[in-house]
Amino acid sequence: MRLYSLLSIAVLVALSYCNPATQQPEVISVNGKMTPSEMGTTLIHEHILVDFIGADSVGYHRWDRDSVIAQTLPFLVDAKKRGVNTFIDCTPAYLGRDPWLLQELSELSGLTIITNTGYYGAVGNKYLPEHAFTETAEQLATRWIDEFQNGIEGSGVKPGFIKISVNSDVPLSTVDQKLVRAAAITHLATGMTIASHTGPALPALEEIALLKAEGVDPSAFIWVHAQIETDFTYYNKAYDLGAWISLDGVVWDVEEHLKRLIYCKKNGLLDKVLISHDAGWYSPGELNGGDFKAFTAIFDELIPLLKQNDFSEKDIDQLLRVNPARAFAINVKAAN
Ligand SMILES: [Zn+2]
Repeated sequence: MRLYSLLSIAVLVALSYCNPATQQPEVISVNGKMTPSEMGTTLIHEHILVDFIGADSVGYHRWDRDSVIAQTLPFLVDAKKRGVNTFIDCTPAYLGRDPWLLQELSELSGLTIITNTGYYGAVGNKYLPEHAFTETAEQLATRWIDEFQNGIEGSGVKPGFIKISVNSDVPLSTVDQKLVRAAAITHLATGMTIASHTGPALPALEEIALLKAEGVDPSAFIWVHAQIETDFTYYNKAYDLGAWISLDGVVWDVEEHLKRLIYCKKNGLLDKVLISHDAGWYSPGELNGGDFKAFTAIFDELIPLLKQNDFSEKDIDQLLRVNPARAFAINVKAAN
């Protein structure tokens, strides 16, 4: 697609996702548009269902929606009881993304649920469809932009952010670079934030550089699984670039997340930090969906520890309400 036509799409789409009365950006959930301030307490990285079978075998035939709902709804209700209002589902296409399931669970639980567009390149390309290898970044972006404009697979459900993933080796592989470029094009055309499953800092910094080269400001980028990085000074670096630092595996190790959060508070980074559990998920093919991890450790374990370490209510509010609303607002962030 030519640059000119991409730019005109960007302007048209960006205008339609701002409330004309207030010029406020909006957020897109599985039930439609809302304002960022309506998100409330938000878990920014969780999973209702993940199917690791691979892109060549995955499909809706792999699970029964009623069984998934029976198994997962109680966990969503438990999160809601702890004050969660918005649940961001990070399962991408070809890994079990199911917009009909998410919409039904949103209605039954009363939680706002947000889903995504984009492809997952990590784990040696196992979750990439064939066309991800043959198409250009522009062609992939056209597919993702189409989901944003017209909904996912006829469901009417629109994605609220871009979820990609890259392998942790640097330099990034050709395919991973293509996913990042496709995400950049999609961001500039739609204003959706880019969350990239990454892990260590070096690939994250390479992604940020690639995005900037494509004209995207790093504030549109969420460095997913930043807790994997053990050299905390990279958090300062990502912060200075303007990227979001996502410490999103709380259910797997509360103490390690506490250490990183204390570092971020001491270094004045909290206004760019996101937290979540990376919990769940129903695994098709396993008995009753396997061992499901609850979405509660932040409230039952982490917050009491944060309070013991001098985190104020305002700090906790920043992590769970203020930052998610800023990070997921639909807003084109072009690089200077
Ligand atoms: Zn995840």
